[in-house]
Amino acid sequence: MYLCDNHTHTKFSFDGSDAPEALCEAAIRNGVKEISITDHYDIDGITEGIYTPYRAEEAKAAILAAREKYADRLQVNYGIELGQANHMPAESAAFIKEHGFDYVLGSIHNLRGVPDFCYMKYEDMSDRLIELLIERSLDEILEIARLDYITTLAHITYPHRYATLAKRDVDLMRFTDRFRAIFRAMIERGISLEINTSTLRTAGITMPTYPVFRLYRECGGELVSFGSDSHKSEYIGYRIDEAQKVLADMGFPYQTVIREGKPYPLPLK
Ligand SMILES: [Zn+2]
Ligand SMILES: [Zn+2]
Repeated sequence: MYLCDNHTHTKFSFDGSDAPEALCEAAIRNGVKEISITDHYDIDGITEGIYTPYRAEEAKAAILAAREKYADRLQVNYGIELGQANHMPAESAAFIKEHGFDYVLGSIHNLRGVPDFCYMKYEDMSDRLIELLIERSLDEILEIARLDYITTLAHITYPHRYATLAKRDVDLMRFTDRFRAIFRAMIERGISLEINTSTLRTAGITMPTYPVFRLYRECGGELVSFGSDSHKSEYIGYRIDEAQKVLADMGFPYQTVIREGKPYPLPLK
């Protein structure tokens, strides 16, 4: 099995801890053959000066040095997790062009003018409000799926993670029409869909959940990427083998990694 972890954070993320070299060592220890380092760049918060700035040059130098050091044992891709690109699409495009990332994860951590979903208290919300937050986040994900410089969509059901952690039951199949629209836009542009395994550890679900991947497959989706979203090196590759087996059984023909901005198919089993 060729294990790829396409979503990882280092100390260059405000909430990460380890250096790129430590991630590479952990990947090799955990049997992972390829990683993409995708530190946070939440462009709206950084531009407004309310989030810690991303030390782009320092991060790039450290990632490229690690790539060279481990070249005989591990493929390392230089990536970024670009949050809320749809809030500032032109500035996002300029940022991506300036740094020449191999791999660009598009994600939504907050709606326009609203705090990160992780700071909300789902225990006290009405069912309708939770639904509304998920609807709005999917509408913004659709905006990201229409941006040409995005190579993969990350954790497209991010608020669902927090609702589930708060023991609120949400049937994601209520949002089928929105998922279909997102998948159409992704398929048109060759954007891959990430299965994020981080929430298996905390809430027992993947982001998005397996039924959403079934819908993606029915819509003709083929490009799937795997990410642990690890913020500590010990979690590199976390339960990706298990997710690979499930998606292979669902009929996905291969997994997709992005190297130098282009998708590469690799075996799933
Ligand atoms: Zn994220
Ligand atoms: Zn992340």
